[in-house]
Amino acid sequence: MSEGIRIRPRAELGFPDGALVVVTDHARPFPPPADGTPLEVVQPVCHLCGIQHFAKVYHLQLRAGSVIVSAEVWANLRGLAENPFELMNVVAEPPAQGLYPNTDRPAELIEKYAMPILTTRSN
Ligand SMILES: [Zn+2]
Repeated sequence: MSEGIRIRPRAELGFPDGALVVVTDHARPFPPPADGTPLEVVQPVCHLCGIQHFAKVYHLQLRAGSVIVSAEVWANLRGLAENPFELMNVVAEPPAQGLYPNTDRPAELIEKYAMPILTTRSN
């Protein structure tokens, strides 16, 4: 197991613990279907967050106010125009489940785009 990176949302964003933070990288859009059908028509609703995604997306489930990601994911988040997370520390042996999104529906869902849009949804 490679090391993990523990990150937390920037405090000023006010993300509550337990939130599923969805970060969309709009600079990496999904290609449209070859037959010309709009992506909005064919793209399924995400089973993790209930949102249709049209670009590369990261689902980050906060636990005790933080989440552990791979070094690759952290590098991608840092490269966003607006990265809502900040580095806490490096975890030498991260728990396996920390690297993957929880499949349980979160109590609260926050969608945080790379562009300055912030919405909160309740299940
Ligand atoms: Zn999703």
